[in-house]
Amino acid sequence: LADPAAKVASVAGSPHPSIPLPIRLYGNSRDNSSGIDLADEQVLGTLATKIASPLPSRERSDSAPSPSRERGPSDVAAAVTAAQAAFPTWSTTPPESRADALERLADLLERDRESLMAICVHEARKTIPDALAEVREAVDFCRYYAAEARTQFLPLQLPGPTGERNELRLEGRGVFACIAPWNFPLAIFLGQVGAALVAGNTVVAKPAPQTPLIAAAAVALAHEAGIPAGALQLVTGGGEIGEALVRDPRIMGVAFTGSTPTARRIARALLDDESRPLVPFIAETGGINAMIVDSTALTEQVVQDVITSAFRSAGQRCSALRLLLVQDDVADRTLEMLGGAMDTLVIGNPADPATDVGPVIDDAAFTRLETYRQAQQPRWLHALPAPATGDFVAPTVIALDAIADLKEEWFGPLLHVVRWKAGELPATIAAVNALGYGLTMGLHSRIASVAAVVTHGAHVGNLYINRSMIGAVVGSQPFGGEGRSGTGFKAGGPHYLLRFVHERTVSTDT
Ligand code: NAD
Repeated sequence: LADPAAKVASVAGSPHPSIPLPIRLYGNSRDNSSGIDLADEQVLGTLATKIASPLPSRERSDSAPSPSRERGPSDVAAAVTAAQAAFPTWSTTPPESRADALERLADLLERDRESLMAICVHEARKTIPDALAEVREAVDFCRYYAAEARTQFLPLQLPGPTGERNELRLEGRGVFACIAPWNFPLAIFLGQVGAALVAGNTVVAKPAPQTPLIAAAAVALAHEAGIPAGALQLVTGGGEIGEALVRDPRIMGVAFTGSTPTARRIARALLDDESRPLVPFIAETGGINAMIVDSTALTEQVVQDVITSAFRSAGQRCSALRLLLVQDDVADRTLEMLGGAMDTLVIGNPADPATDVGPVIDDAAFTRLETYRQAQQPRWLHALPAPATGDFVAPTVIALDAIADLKEEWFGPLLHVVRWKAGELPATIAAVNALGYGLTMGLHSRIASVAAVVTHGAHVGNLYINRSMIGAVVGSQPFGGEGRSGTGFKAGGPHYLLRFVHERTVSTDT
């Protein structure tokens, strides 16, 4: 962290426990069975205390390497060596025992929920509802992959002639590199790590440089849950550490979530060395996500879903809405109502329960987004005022002439709008497809045939009809894109674990 003290000070203000919260959770498990109630003043008081207390020790334990010292390539090599040494034992540990460990980890995440939420607020600048959703999603990933492993990793007996036994086995591949982004620093981090481990691999995990503390806390809990220290190694640092990790020829697979350009760099690094094995590369990357709104849509619902999809988490979700495509006939009404709804958003300290939109992740992100936003000023349709200090990017709606004018993913609360005319739906879908990404899309329409055209025509991994476009639920809405948005299989879906294993057929003459 560049300046942890300043970061803590910036979020450790005075939450308002007395404000009743009309918070609707868009988190990743539908029921609130984890039992936390953000409208409960006592809960808010506990959270406020956690958030105001200092960050956890940077020398947490032997098993969770301290992120306070920059790591170098020799640390990476040592971590891979240790993970490789742990592989024979961990990979032959029965799948049900590995699943048990993952479920114990889920229990520990729930036990430490408020502390983990506080770190998410401090370190990742998450609002309190987002921090809660983060922990719940991490729990969901652990429980879901544990349950899948129990059934998927049973050896499969295949038919054959009498006197022959054929068995198909799924086994861990070796040491997996798990490389995570900062925007879901606990859920995505543990989703990758949990999947790789339960499949019988050992892991060297590298969190984003912005969020090492939550990763260190997660790794410490994983070790407490019974995952051997050797089987799960943590290395911290930036792109050069990630690059050293994926270039290590002992790495037998990479699970990566982050930007599309970084995925390309990793893919190149994995192919450069002709002597190393060909290994799976699971990449979940960015998107230019559109929502199509036709003239039959319910405007109030559209506006609510646009606000959630474009501005929740300060637009820092890979699934977030970037491009609103609204039919001309209803565009003026929709945009006017959208502006009014935006005016009610509270921008401020993420530790304040009243906050809807917090700051973006760091100064670099702020500068990049703000420079672009200012350059678009002649095209602003609506822009909110934002606090002058503290990396706040004002939620802004920007008019574009054509879909093709949006060239890249702007990872913040910036929404672009393009109008389309009746009869142009197929061309509109084709123009979105031509952007080359394929992560999420939204549709608001009350015509079934329009839904069918979009469902068949849109090249996206996750399509959301007449609802918001964020908050995929583990196990119900497997998540991931196509094209420049990712390789699949989808996180939180039944096929994800298969990318982490070797298939072995054993045929025995009996
Ligand atoms: P990023 O690509 O900058 O970094 C992601 C991770 O890769 C970090 O840990 C980083 O240190 C590491 N890294 C950077 N260069 C590397 C290299 N050469 N070799 C190996 N590792 C390297 O992304 P970010 O800014 O952390 O995250 C935001 C991006 O992630 C956005 O594009 C967003 O759309 C995407 N994202 C996608 C999904 C999804 O499920 N599809 C989910 C969350 C975020």
